[in-house]
Amino acid sequence: MSITVVGSIAYDTVKTPFGERERMLGGAAVHFALAAAFFDEVRVVGPVGDDFGEPELDVMRRRGVDIVDVERIAGGKTFFWHGEYGWDLNSRETHDTQLGVFEGFAPKLSPSSRASDVLFLANIQPDLQREVRAQLPDAKFVALDSMNLWIDIARDSLVSAIENVDCVVLNDAELRQLTGKPNLISAAREVLAWKPADGGGRGPSVIIAKQGEYGAALVTQDGFFALPAYPLETVIDPTGAGDTFAGGFVGFIAANLQDGLSDALLRRAMAHATVLASFNVEEFGTERVQRLTQPEIAARMDELHAITQFSGSR
Ligand code: AMP
Repeated sequence: MSITVVGSIAYDTVKTPFGERERMLGGAAVHFALAAAFFDEVRVVGPVGDDFGEPELDVMRRRGVDIVDVERIAGGKTFFWHGEYGWDLNSRETHDTQLGVFEGFAPKLSPSSRASDVLFLANIQPDLQREVRAQLPDAKFVALDSMNLWIDIARDSLVSAIENVDCVVLNDAELRQLTGKPNLISAAREVLAWKPADGGGRGPSVIIAKQGEYGAALVTQDGFFALPAYPLETVIDPTGAGDTFAGGFVGFIAANLQDGLSDALLRRAMAHATVLASFNVEEFGTERVQRLTQPEIAARMDELHAITQFSGSR
């Protein structure tokens, strides 16, 4: 089942203790699309400015990503983000965010983007996420990511966006901030109880709490599952890890949704998400995922499987 994603398409300037890059290809929708494209067809929705280059579009084209709905805004500037990480790669400082062409952007989806069964609302203003959600009313699986900035400045809009999706993917700290609950499980339970104010729709049934280098947990109405991050000795740049994780997760679900959203499917999707994210952080930005191959994914899936097994139940 094909996937539509809306979110930032960006130039990122990033500094980590291991080096820096200026204006490299980034953005939540881009990281997501490059990961999800290993599993299914992906259509990216979002604006770029005059400054966005053909080589950057080619990175997506080479993975078969449909960029028909990447709109070039004449006279506009591409979304720009500048961040820096210290030795603790789980926390980062944002030096600059320039929304550029995202300011005043009104998404116009092509018929094929509107026909997708799966939708990912990557991190961007929640108003925009809601506008896109409204254009795919019949989508079978809708997931959403967000960040502290939108919880700070657009919480009401974010809450109503969340009420209209099936799955919420957030960092553990963001989940606490969103709900005001210090305990992760009760924070997830609170979000699981949110339903659309107008009485239509389902409300979220899957919550994923990303925990950076410690892995990720999945909470549903009657289930819980957690995986550690894949143990890596070399981590260079965590930028986009969350979006790559979401790309692996939603991509795997889209490719296997024909039999319904079972607990087993969610768990296998978590494992693919973990593996995709682990490759992303090995180099700057999208560099590693651009070169990634299916056999490399399969080999690391086997390793993750092996290190998360134990025999018997006690
Ligand atoms: P992650 O490390 O998974 O949180 O994703 C980082 C990506 O999100 C970078 O490529 C940025 O371009 C993008 N990003 C950073 N801040 C924002 C924001 N306020 N809205 C949308 N995208 C953002």
